[in-house]
Amino acid sequence: MKIARFSHQETLRYGIVDDAELVVLAGDPLFAGFETTGERIPLSEVTLLAPVIPRSKVVCIGKNYHDHAAEMGGEAPAEPLMFLKPNTSVIGPDDVIVRPTALSSRTDYEGELAVVIGRIAKNVPAERAADYIFGYTVANDVTARDLQSRDGQWTRAKGFDTFCPVGPVIETELDTDAATITTRVNGEVRQNGPMSDMIHKVPDLIAYASAVFTLLPGDLILTGTPAGIGPFEAGDTVEVEVSGIGVLRNTVRDA
Ligand code: MG
Repeated sequence: MKIARFSHQETLRYGIVDDAELVVLAGDPLFAGFETTGERIPLSEVTLLAPVIPRSKVVCIGKNYHDHAAEMGGEAPAEPLMFLKPNTSVIGPDDVIVRPTALSSRTDYEGELAVVIGRIAKNVPAERAADYIFGYTVANDVTARDLQSRDGQWTRAKGFDTFCPVGPVIETELDTDAATITTRVNGEVRQNGPMSDMIHKVPDLIAYASAVFTLLPGDLILTGTPAGIGPFEAGDTVEVEVSGIGVLRNTVRDA
């Protein structure tokens, strides 16, 4: 089931995608379930928004694919390498990524699978992690690459406004081992990796993160990027596709 958050006639709503239509939901399905209003709206008449705005945090995992760890010049870490992005970095499909050119000279895409947390999670063992997953969406872990190495930690490099595009929808059922991540810049494929190459798998990431802090409904976990990272420029169109979910498309401008 694909869940969208959208605006229609200046009203914010949620819906289930059914071919070219949305079955409108009575409220935010994260909190209100899947009760429908009976109304259907053509997808062509709505503007899709970020399918979730995290209440508290975007948890990210770095170097979680061997081939990407290698291209960054090192081994994959034995434990998940965890960092946070502020929820103010989240934007939706077709929103504009703004390169902070006064502070950084290189802004990169990182196509990733994002897990949407559905229930309050603390100290959840990996065997029960599936109970806490609402669904999955597509994310771009936009990174100011020069600041990442210069700062020594990643808060600034990963945290600018617009640096966390997510969408276009949440898929509640996804076989993560069968899915692939593809990133295109202006239509040219830059990343294409099977998610089966993920080192620390989704259940282990939920266990690892929830041992540190409480995960809240709507929090996101970005699970790492495959090889092929690189920069984009103003005027580019960046697409991240996860098979089975959809294509997250954003354009780029300079600040
Ligand atoms: Mg990343």
